Amino acid sequence: MTASDKHILLLAGTFEARRLASEILQRFPSFRLTPSFAGVVKELPDLGCPIRVGGFGGSEGLEDFCREEAVSLIIDATHPFAVQMSDNAAQAASILDLRLLRLERPAWQPGPDDNWQRVPSMNEAVLALPQDARAFLTVGRKEIGKFLQRTDIFALVRMIEPPEQYLPEHWKLILQRPAQSTAEEADLLNQHGITHVVAKNGGGERSYAKITAARELGLTVVMIDRPFPPSLGKPVAGIEEAMQELNEILGG
Ligand code: NAP
Repeated sequence: MTASDKHILLLAGTFEARRLASEILQRFPSFRLTPSFAGVVKELPDLGCPIRVGGFGGSEGLEDFCREEAVSLIIDATHPFAVQMSDNAAQAASILDLRLLRLERPAWQPGPDDNWQRVPSMNEAVLALPQDARAFLTVGRKEIGKFLQRTDIFALVRMIEPPEQYLPEHWKLILQRPAQSTAEEADLLNQHGITHVVAKNGGGERSYAKITAARELGLTVVMIDRPFPPSLGKPVAGIEEAMQELNEILGG
C-alpha cells in the first residue's frame, strides 16, 4: 500500500478535529484525508481539503462509505456528548476491522474555588435548578427542549444555530459561539443577573471561559457528566498523541 492509498476519515465537529486536520495535512501530505461534519452548523471551516457533510445513514451507512471510499483508518474527533456517532464509528470499525482512534479531550475537573453541582444527565440538570433560578443554559439545541418545562426560571440560552422549539417569552436567546475570555463571559453573566450556569462537561479550552467566569462570580455550575465513550478504539487525549499513533499505525 502506498501513502496515497491511505485514506483517513476524520469525524469532526470539534475545534480539536480542525486542528488535527491541519496537522495531518501538514505532516502527512500524501495521505488522503476526509473530514466529515454532521451539517448541524451551517458555517463550515475551510480545512484545506475536500470535506463531506451530513449523516452517513447509521453505522451501516458508515460501513458502506468506508468500503466504497477505501478508508484505512477512522479518527473519532466528535464532541464527547456525540454518543451516537461514536457508537456508529465503533461498530463500523469493528465490522470492517479498521483501526479507530478516539480523540478524547480530558474532562474538566473542579478546583477548590469552584462551586459545582455535578449531575449524571440532562434530565437531572433540569431538576437541579432551584425555583426562580436565573440560569445560563449552554446545553445545545438538541437538549434545550428538556428545559422548556421550567417556566418558573429565567434562562439565558446560548447556541450557534437557532433551536427548533419556541422558547418561553421571558427567556433570552443569543446565537453565538462561546466567548474566549473570562471577562467577556463574566460581563454576560452579570448583565443578566445569572445565578446558575448549566454546562456539559465537554472539556477543552474553547468553552471553558464560562466556567472560570462562574468561579470568579461565585456562581453555581450545574455540570453534566459526560456519557461513557464506546469501549472500542484507542483513546488519545490530544493532538500530539494522535499524531504519534498515526505515525505508528500508518508508518508516516
Ligand atoms: P450524535 O447524536 O452523536 O449524532 C447524531 C447523528 O448525526 C449521527 O448518527 C450521524 O448521522 C450524524 N453525525 C454526527 N456527527 C457526524 C459527523 N462528524 N459526520 C457525519 N455525520 C455525523 O451527535 P450530535 O450530538 O447531534 O452532534 C452533532 C455534531 O455536532 C457532532 O459531529 C459533534 O461532534 C458536534 N458537536 C456536538 C456537541 C454536543 O454537545 N452533542 C457539541 C459540539 C459539537 P448518521 O447516523 O446518519 O450517520
